[in-house]
Parts: sequence; C-alpha cells; structure tokens
Amino acid sequence: MSFHLEPEREAIRDAVREFGENEIRPIAAEYEAEQRYPAELLADAAALDFVAPHVPEAYGGAGMDPISTAIVTEELWRADPGVGGSIAAADFGTGMLLEYGDERLCEEWLPEITAGETPIATGISEPAHGSNVAGMETRAEKDGDEWVIDGQKMWITNGTVADVAIVMAKTSPERGHTGITAFLTPTDVDGYEATRITNKLGIKAQDTAEIVLDDIRVPEENVVGEVDRGFYQLMEFFAPARVDVAAQATGVAQAALEEAIDYATEREQFDRKIAAFQAIRHKIAEMATGIEAGRSLAYRAASALESGDDATATRLAAMAKLFASETAVDVTDEALQVHGGAGYVSDHPIERFYRDARITKIYDGTSEIQKNVIADQLL
Ligand SMILES: Cc1cc2nc3c(=O)[nH]c(=O)nc-3n(C[C@H](O)[C@H](O)[C@H](O)COP(=O)(O)OP(=O)(O)OC[C@H]3O[C@@H](n4cnc5c(N)ncnc54)[C@H](O)[C@@H]3O)c2cc1C
Repeated sequence: MSFHLEPEREAIRDAVREFGENEIRPIAAEYEAEQRYPAELLADAAALDFVAPHVPEAYGGAGMDPISTAIVTEELWRADPGVGGSIAAADFGTGMLLEYGDERLCEEWLPEITAGETPIATGISEPAHGSNVAGMETRAEKDGDEWVIDGQKMWITNGTVADVAIVMAKTSPERGHTGITAFLTPTDVDGYEATRITNKLGIKAQDTAEIVLDDIRVPEENVVGEVDRGFYQLMEFFAPARVDVAAQATGVAQAALEEAIDYATEREQFDRKIAAFQAIRHKIAEMATGIEAGRSLAYRAASALESGDDATATRLAAMAKLFASETAVDVTDEALQVHGGAGYVSDHPIERFYRDARITKIYDGTSEIQKNVIADQLL
C-alpha cells in the first residue's frame, strides 16, 4: 500500500474542494436554516462525477476506486455535512444494486442516480429495531408474481426525495436473520408514504424520513439478490458504507480544524493572538493528529475493500468508522472551544459542524456496534 496520494487522486480532491468552496459553502448556512434539500445542486455535482462516483462508467458513473470515492465524500463533508452530505448520500443503496441487482434494474435506475436526477434511499431501520437488524418487522408476502410489503421504516436518508428505494423486509419471519430479502421499489407506488423528520440535531439540509409501507406491491423481478439472503448482502454492503462514514467524519473534522486555526490566528486576548497560547497550540496539534490517523485508517479500509479479503475489509471498515467518528466529535468539540463564546452561536460554521459531526457515531452502526464487530473477529 502506498502512503502518498497519486496525482490523479490529488486532482480529484482539488476538483471537489473547488466545487465545495464555490458552490456549497456559500449556501450552507441558508440551506441548514431552511432545512432545504439541495436537489438542484445534485445535477451540477453529477456533471462533475461527484454523485455515486464508484458506479461504473457504463451506468453513467466515474468508476472510481474506493480511495478516490472516499476522497469525494471527505471533501463534500469538508464543504458542509448538510449540503455536501446530501450529495454524498445520493448513492446510498447503489452498492447493493450494483452487486446484487439484475441488469434490468441497474440499467433502469443507475443512470438516473449518477445523473443527479434522483437519489436512492435504503430502508433497513425501523422504529423498534435499529442495531438489531435481524429483528425487523416489515413483512413481504408473495402474491402471484408480486411481493406485497407491509411495515414501517425509520430514519431513512433521502426517504422523501428519492424516486427509488431499496427496502429490506422479512420474507421468512420465523427464520430471523436468514429470512430477510432486499426489494427495489419506485417510491411513487401506492402505499409508500414518507414523512420528513424535521427536528434533527444536525445535517438539517439532508432529507431523513419515516416511511410507512402499506401493502406496496413489487414485481418479483425487483428482488435485489436472493430471497432470504438480504441480511448477508447487507453485511457486505456495510463495509463500504462504513468507510464512507469514516470519510464523512474526516471531512467535517478537517473543516473544524481549519475553522479553529483561522479563529486562533485572528482572535487576540492578553495582547496576543490566542494561537500563541500553548493550551490552544496543543489542541490544534492533537486535533490534526487525530484527523490524520482517522484519514489513514479510512484510506486503509478503503484499499482493503478491493483486496477480496472480506473479513479484513469488515474489520478495518468498523475500526475506521469507530475511530474517525469518535475523533470528529472530539475535534469539533475542541474547535468550538477554541472559538470561546463565538463558537456557541451560529455566526461561525463551527456551531453547525459540532452538531453535524455527532451523527457519524450513530448511523451505519453505532460506535458500540462497531466495537462488537471488531471484537467478534478477535475473540
Ligand atoms: C440522520 C439519520 C440518518 C439515518 N439514515 C438511515 C438510512 O438511510 N437507512 C436506515 O436503514 N437507517 C438509517 N438510520 C438509522 C441508524 O442506522 C440507526 O439509528 C442506528 O443503527 C442505531 O439504531 P437505533 O437508533 O434504533 O438505536 P438502538 O439500536 O436502539 O441503540 C440504542 C443504544 O443502544 C446501544 N446498543 C444497541 N445494541 C447494542 C449491543 N448489542 N451492544 C452494545 N450496545 C448496543 C446502541 O449503540 C445505542 O447506544 C439513520 C439514522 C439517523 C439519525
């Protein structure tokens, strides 16, 4: 494994950073205040290959490798976790579709997603079952050549803005985790009702929804992968998703560090810049060190995704997600502290980053679940 980024990847970083600084940062505070999903920006980002960049060129993607894909997410989150994060999350489900969906489904939906015409949603979590995926209660029953899905999904990213969703449901309820199946459904079918959740702590421009599935009908060809194999498909899908969260966390932490440096080199107390105080200098040094360690782990996990060694990729992805998200929460907290009282109000983006970073410890498996995944491999 190389320990420096190739010029191609540096060029990708520069391009996303430029887009982030010119197109995302200037509107971020307003979109957060209005809880506005950046639908129009999705197409602009897609034109530059920043939406679902890992999808092969045949479906309109850029065919980026996992490290380059992580860099795109990192830079979108560095620009702003709400607006940039919406762009990064537009692909949440394309991994499963590409790996397990048949050619017809891929051809029908992936070009629309990579063109930024619609994001995709993935419904796993439910009101009563989050960490315990196998406990889900949503049911799918066969009726002729269709499946009828009934249940409720909770916290679903892109739930009200996506034209298409992957929904996980129990097809053999008596069999626990060996009885779950993935289905692809357009969201305009009868019985699909999504309601936006508007009282989130952060990432407020991102769309998060509660979804009621009232006997929606899905043709049998829309099973993604195999009937009753959905849990195992999900476990595979979690490794790249967790690398992505590690990249998100690294991006927002980097943004917070830069804000802290800017503020510390401007603000004066006791007739000197606060950057002159050792207490502040050490905070900056610790933040930067944590971010660099998290970034290295994220890229290492990304490179493991290509190795074909699923166990190693799963472990490193869990470690990267755990470490980078905990670091992001610590770093944004310390960066806010560097701002003093000014960090406690929305005049500076650090107030937003502090709230936004918190989600990275929760979704795609909480920190506690990542520790379980890591320990299960070691013990
Ligand atoms: C903004 C946002 C976006 C999201 N997007 C999506 C999405 O697109 N699709 C989707 O399906 N889900 C999504 N989620 C849901 C997310 O993945 C879950 O919230 C998460 O997995 C935790 O589940 P839970 O909220 O039910 O918490 P619970 O599972 O009830 O956990 C509560 C607490 O108990 C701990 N805990 C639970 N089990 C264990 C255990 N075995 N060992 C140790 N500790 C344990 C947890 O770590 C946590 O601290 C999103 C959530 C949010 C907030």
